[in-house]
Amino acid sequence: MKTKGMMIQQLAEHLGYADSEYLSKLLDHLLTEEEATLMTNLPDTPKNLTLKLDLDEEYVNCRLRDLFMRGLVLIDSHVAGEPIYLVDNNAGRFMDMILFDPRYQEEDEDFYSLWRDFFNNELVYAPRSPEKLPFRIIPVDENIEDHRTILPYEQVSEIIKNAKRIAVQNCPCRTREQRCSAPLETCISLNETAEYMITRNIGREIIYSEALHILKSAEEFGLVHETDNTDNPTIICNCCSCCCVFLRAITVFQQEDVIARSRFFAQFDKEKCILCFRCLARCLFKSITFVEGQILIDSSKCYGCGLCSTTCKGGAISMVLKENALSIPHKGDEFMQGFTNIP
Ligand code: SF4
Ligand code: SF4
Ligand code: SF4
Repeated sequence: MKTKGMMIQQLAEHLGYADSEYLSKLLDHLLTEEEATLMTNLPDTPKNLTLKLDLDEEYVNCRLRDLFMRGLVLIDSHVAGEPIYLVDNNAGRFMDMILFDPRYQEEDEDFYSLWRDFFNNELVYAPRSPEKLPFRIIPVDENIEDHRTILPYEQVSEIIKNAKRIAVQNCPCRTREQRCSAPLETCISLNETAEYMITRNIGREIIYSEALHILKSAEEFGLVHETDNTDNPTIICNCCSCCCVFLRAITVFQQEDVIARSRFFAQFDKEKCILCFRCLARCLFKSITFVEGQILIDSSKCYGCGLCSTTCKGGAISMVLKENALSIPHKGDEFMQGFTNIP
């Protein structure tokens, strides 16, 4: 018979962080011994678990449903009408599925401090494949020089217009890091992902006009739009550089190949620049500098978010398609792909 400690260790190992004292402490805090027993016996259906563990079926159903609602287990698929529950093995997504949930805000400061330590000391160093970056920056579309060059799935307004259902939920990165005053309710989920968030009572269903308003407010605040790096966006994030898992890795940890850049870059027209200096603060990537009396934009550092162009007083910055812009990968590797099934 396994002790709770052994099961916590097994779950931490499953998430790829067997030696993490932070993750083990968090799992120990989040789970009862009975819940750890159920989770270490997944993936499976409630019926099979009932037989395997010799438990009451209603109890197993209730516990798994509760773990699902708390973001600790997901549903892989259904077999004969029964959900197959599983424990995610992606530690970043596991963390987000918990921190999306505002009910955890009742937890004390130690809880968030453990998540911060886990991210900043361990998760941020997780290996990434430059060929398969999960997220992409999308430009603010109003100053795209030639609108024929932008695709519908790299334009926030078009992405939300095409969604059948939209929900908004709290940003898990800012919930964890708590380093800025940027608005919290800014993560916009779409279609099946929205349904998942609504089912868990962590997403508030909204209509197109409210989603547009949230995106505009995020732009005004200086938050960068990000979405899945495919032609099938499931979520739109509005990110700050101090908290976002990706932007923090770039700007604080100086990492490269963290997130795909947009296919656009900021083109600067010196003649129109009136030296209002607004762009300097708008660029979270420090691509813009003021050197020898003039503004310089280092295009090698430009991620193509477009934030500098929206507040440029002189209209000196426009967003232009890169000559060697890579195509956007096809549907298939979305952040929540295959993990949005509901009971
Ligand atoms: S990626 Fe950005 S918006 Fe999404 S959860 Fe993180 S900071 Fe929030
Ligand atoms: S220069 Fe900076 S703010 Fe402007 S588009 Fe590039 S990354 Fe964004
Ligand atoms: S915001 Fe525009 S006008 Fe102002 S300094 Fe930057 S480039 Fe020049």
